[in-house]
Amino acid sequence: MSALSLIHASDTQVARLAAFVDDLRALIVYSASEDELLSYGRALLAELVRHDDWLPDAYAASSAQRYQQYPLHIDSAGRFSVVSFVWGPGQATPIHDHRVWGLVGVLRGAELAESFAFDSEGALRSTGPAQRLGAGSVDAVSPRIGDIHRVANAYDDRVSISIHVYGADIGRVERATYDRSGAPSRFVSGYAGLPALIA
Ligand code: FE
Repeated sequence: MSALSLIHASDTQVARLAAFVDDLRALIVYSASEDELLSYGRALLAELVRHDDWLPDAYAASSAQRYQQYPLHIDSAGRFSVVSFVWGPGQATPIHDHRVWGLVGVLRGAELAESFAFDSEGALRSTGPAQRLGAGSVDAVSPRIGDIHRVANAYDDRVSISIHVYGADIGRVERATYDRSGAPSRFVSGYAGLPALIA
């Protein structure tokens, strides 16, 4: 049974996402460099999050316990994944890295993203004030351009949602969270318990 029939989403509702996944797959195959991939990928994701009319409610549901990561599409060859992040009021990630390229597009509400980097003494430092990303904006991370950040819902009284794309099946990637001193802890994010929206 497909995820669509499980969650009663209509084909038209996810048509935007399906087109995005097709475009992204082609982009990943044909990009000559990470710069090119991130540049065109930003434009594709900006177009996807420009409209907030396609994400089924099941993949937009918040939890009082923690922020949710619902799989929207996992490439069968593991080359990329698309995930909806749903932030309850005031929820935030720990400081963490990704180990692969990633794009974050805000679909609903707003997020605060603070970037970190290790200084020459090996201490983890904030690289500047948290950046506010409103609906429609897109941010990028990668080990090459800056891979460590902490993300929070900008609102303490409502849900925010962003659509994330990564250059791997991110739920399975071994990566790290960091405490304020920069000490790493092993981190594998997994996914919330729904089948991928598009198989
Ligand atoms: Fe992140």
